[in-house]
Amino acid sequence: MTETETFYSADVARQKWEQAARVSDELRLAREAPKLSKSQRQLLRQHSEVKSIEPDIIAYLLSTGLVRHSTTATSALMELAPNDKVYESASLDEHVRAFHLLTAILPMEMLSSISASLCTEYVSRASHNAFSIRPTADGDHSGEFLGYGVWPEASFFNHSCNPNVRKVRNGRQWSFTVARDVEQGEELCITYLGGEEKELDVVERRKRLQTEWGFMCGCERCQKESATNGVNRKADD
Ligand SMILES: [Zn+2]
Repeated sequence: MTETETFYSADVARQKWEQAARVSDELRLAREAPKLSKSQRQLLRQHSEVKSIEPDIIAYLLSTGLVRHSTTATSALMELAPNDKVYESASLDEHVRAFHLLTAILPMEMLSSISASLCTEYVSRASHNAFSIRPTADGDHSGEFLGYGVWPEASFFNHSCNPNVRKVRNGRQWSFTVARDVEQGEELCITYLGGEEKELDVVERRKRLQTEWGFMCGCERCQKESATNGVNRKADD
């Protein structure tokens, strides 16, 4: 995480990936060359370095590429809603570096599964669908951030500030169990909030969800609390 976050516009982000694709083409040419030129050797060396890339980012692009490589079916990941509005610049640059690293070192037959256009799709689907991994079993935000992962099937749960489903992580697996009686036809929801966030008032909760997840929460609890707030405000006038 950088100290001051800057964001690329969608246009700049697209140009970044186009540029990344050109570098990746050069990397492939270098890998296929029977005899490397000096500049090709430099290019390969420069992009084979793991330093300054979060292992999580490498692991994410690699695992999504592996899934794509090993199955002909459309990956469940691609059914998730992409987030193509905001691009945190440091994060996007890091994803590009991870993409180049993988292009430089993966077996050649895997390279078609981690092209620039596919990486763009993988990245846009991670940002609003990832689950953070923390020491506590429920991924409580108060614990140290250890990394993130995307479990596509689990991403179909919508959010509620008063969820009827509880999530628990056990190693690499998440399990989801009902937290209370559920009416027939009632939507199953988890909470995207963690730790103390759950106790915030409706205004702060909604602000947090809008920033982190990009939606305005209209759950029953939010509706009820904002209505009560309105009543209180009227009473104060
Ligand atoms: Zn809510």
